[in-house]
Amino acid sequence: MGIKIVPRHGSSFKDKTYIWAIFSGMKTTFKKFSKNLADTNCIPTCEYPEAQPDDITDRYRGMHRLTHRDDDSVRCVACFMCATACPAECIFIEAEERTDGVDEKQPSRFDIDLLECIFCGYCVEACPCDAIRMDTGIFSIIARTREEFVVNKEQLLKNRGAFGQENSIA
Ligand code: SF4
Ligand code: SF4
Repeated sequence: MGIKIVPRHGSSFKDKTYIWAIFSGMKTTFKKFSKNLADTNCIPTCEYPEAQPDDITDRYRGMHRLTHRDDDSVRCVACFMCATACPAECIFIEAEERTDGVDEKQPSRFDIDLLECIFCGYCVEACPCDAIRMDTGIFSIIARTREEFVVNKEQLLKNRGAFGQENSIA
């Protein structure tokens, strides 16, 4: 059987000098640069944070929120399904008895560590009662300390839906 010897890529003098590769890259750069200079509407980036993007789709997974019942109380029944499904293990829930007869339990503590969260949306998928969503449109989360990135129940309840779907089930 004949053996085909394939020359090692990058072993020629032309490849070793990198000159052609550099010119080829610069050609693309200048082509895009001159096109954007002629028509700034073509530029696919914005001057964030001065200019905020206005084309966030309602499927975008932003910061979480806990949804409300019609009486504005927390919808969450502290079943721990979201915390169990979370691959980053960044949801911390403590349950307490609910005494108003609406349900058996509610969370006394519901924290999410946003530094550990990978924004996969599994918690939203796992929730049996639509109590947690990621439709706040908050995609820029800024804090000075690690602790400030842990959002608690009160903060999560304060967040509202950004796409006109406050609560979809009764
Ligand atoms: S989005 Fe994913 S990683 Fe973040 S809290 Fe939900 S399940 Fe966990
Ligand atoms: S948010 Fe949903 S899944 Fe998580 S504990 Fe509450 S009811 Fe259960």
